[in-house]
Amino acid sequence: MGSLTLAGSTIAAGTRTIVRAPVTRDLTGDVDIVAHVAAGAHDGPTLLLLSMLHGNEWFSAVVLRELLSRIDAGVLRGNVIAIPVANAPAMATATRCIQDNADEPDANRTFGGPYQWLSNQITRVLSDEFMAKSDAVIDYHVGDWGATMADVSYVTDYSRADVAERSRAMALAYGFPVLHALTIFSGLRGARTSLGHAGEKYGIPGIVAEVGGLGWGEPQEQRWIQMNVDGTMGVMRQLGMIEGEVKPPAGYLHFHDYFRVGPSVGGYLEPVVGLDRQFTEVAKGEVLATVRHAMTFELLEEVRSPGRGIIFYACRSQMVRPGGWGFGVASLEDPRTEWKTT
Ligand SMILES: [Zn+2]
Repeated sequence: MGSLTLAGSTIAAGTRTIVRAPVTRDLTGDVDIVAHVAAGAHDGPTLLLLSMLHGNEWFSAVVLRELLSRIDAGVLRGNVIAIPVANAPAMATATRCIQDNADEPDANRTFGGPYQWLSNQITRVLSDEFMAKSDAVIDYHVGDWGATMADVSYVTDYSRADVAERSRAMALAYGFPVLHALTIFSGLRGARTSLGHAGEKYGIPGIVAEVGGLGWGEPQEQRWIQMNVDGTMGVMRQLGMIEGEVKPPAGYLHFHDYFRVGPSVGGYLEPVVGLDRQFTEVAKGEVLATVRHAMTFELLEEVRSPGRGIIFYACRSQMVRPGGWGFGVASLEDPRTEWKTT
């Protein structure tokens, strides 16, 4: 396989290196995107792994570190580009969005933007220097501290049906038993997300891997790291980059619509329903958590599921602000929600 050129750097086949793509200069220093590149010794597709487009979701950077330790460029077919911290300015403040006065602060809603806001410039470099050279993308979005995510998402309504179908195959190859079918044109995310942009501008398939979170203790977090490493390697097998059999989940929850159930007030949230209820049914109106005043401790809210569904992500006790991450409940009021077997 020939050498790979990324952001002005040439990487010889069968080697690994770190590439820095400059974005801009902020008041106190340069903003760069740092990419680990494993250039495979053999021909194959280029897989782009994006992590931390949201600056508080650092669990996925740990996943990529573990994954990279298992990749041998000497036997790899194709290339892996792994970006642990896509959004360094947001990481620096440990916040989802970049803390400036941009009217486009969320880097996963600003792909393709014409402006010079940091979020626009970061996503432009991701697009021009990395996505343009890639054949598939995995964008990791994991729980902030105290929350967890638990699904693998793929887009169903790209302009090109083959891109949607290839994305679905990647999602199954991840092996996680929850698949979320997204619509980008009628949904809240729009074509300006990583996946929307990749699929529409470049015609490349992708998935959002949302498995795990922070604040759950080492044993649980190690299990989630392993699930993500296994899942990513499953996608690499499905793309023909490494040897081995693709193992889709034997059974999985497939849904389109879900209830995002969170607190409407700020305070100390205590779950009534925990991770032990993951993948079980909750009733309409069932109390999932309570929120107490942070100072007086009075009960402010009972957080209830607005409909009948299957709980797939949960949260732990934590101080929350209005709208904070709570629970994901796949709607059983939507007839498309079902357990499937492969
Ligand atoms: Zn995210």
